[in-house]
Amino acid sequence: MRIDIITIFPELFNPFLQLGIVKKALEKKTVDIRAHDLRNFALDKHRMVDDYPYGGGPGMVLKPEPIWRAVEQIPQPRRVVFLTPHGRTFDQEKAWEMAQLKNLVLICGRYEGVDERVREELVDEEISIGDYVLNGGEIPAMVIMEAVIRLLPEVLGDEDSVVGDSFYQGLLDHPHYTRPEEFKGYRVPGVLLSGDHKKIARWRKKESLRQTLLKRPDLIKKANLDPEDRDLLAEIEAEIEEGLGGKEDRNEKC
Ligand code: SAM
Repeated sequence: MRIDIITIFPELFNPFLQLGIVKKALEKKTVDIRAHDLRNFALDKHRMVDDYPYGGGPGMVLKPEPIWRAVEQIPQPRRVVFLTPHGRTFDQEKAWEMAQLKNLVLICGRYEGVDERVREELVDEEISIGDYVLNGGEIPAMVIMEAVIRLLPEVLGDEDSVVGDSFYQGLLDHPHYTRPEEFKGYRVPGVLLSGDHKKIARWRKKESLRQTLLKRPDLIKKANLDPEDRDLLAEIEAEIEEGLGGKEDRNEKC
């Protein structure tokens, strides 16, 4: 996969590209990421990429010509995405869809945003990372890249595989524990120490359902639950009704 970023701050991406899983994916050549400095595509000797808004008012607007020139040098077929609070909110499903693309182009706005003609004529899709306003599209671009890159083949090792992650099966992930077995008087649930893989799998599924029911009931409604999941859910609901199955019951206090 190739990802091209169009930005006035390409240097913001340096640490992002030089560490962890993204660095590994670049080294393995699973992904090729190029951050283009929008100013290199400006038409004048001052490398101007923004100008005053027609009609007056505060702020500057990114000019259309440099963005157009920057996008046109990227090979086709390409999906051109503009990061903007106007866009569809990014989610795991969108990340999976983007992970299938060969060429993804991310345009990072700044100031008041970009000239509207870029959005209407050049952009295929608008994506937001949430209902709040940031200063630029660079952090949204990193959010999208990180979510997409970890889904590419052979990027994650077994130890951090995407299977079991939140949203993989439409549910939140189950709780995780590590050493020590006992911490401040709280013990790790006994089943996780039992070595019984069937029981552990059942416990994890049940706790994944419980987390989702308690924290994101909207996901439970949409999830594709099988009969066993429904039985577990009924057990959890009964426990909740009886006032059982809370944090105190699940963390075994010594
Ligand atoms: N005037 C714009 C508006 O109200 O829609 C906001 C401009 S914002 C200060 C500058 C740039 O940051 C935007 O063009 C966009 O690229 C990026 N940005 C800000 N918030 C974002 C968000 N929630 N999701 C994606 N991009 C965002």
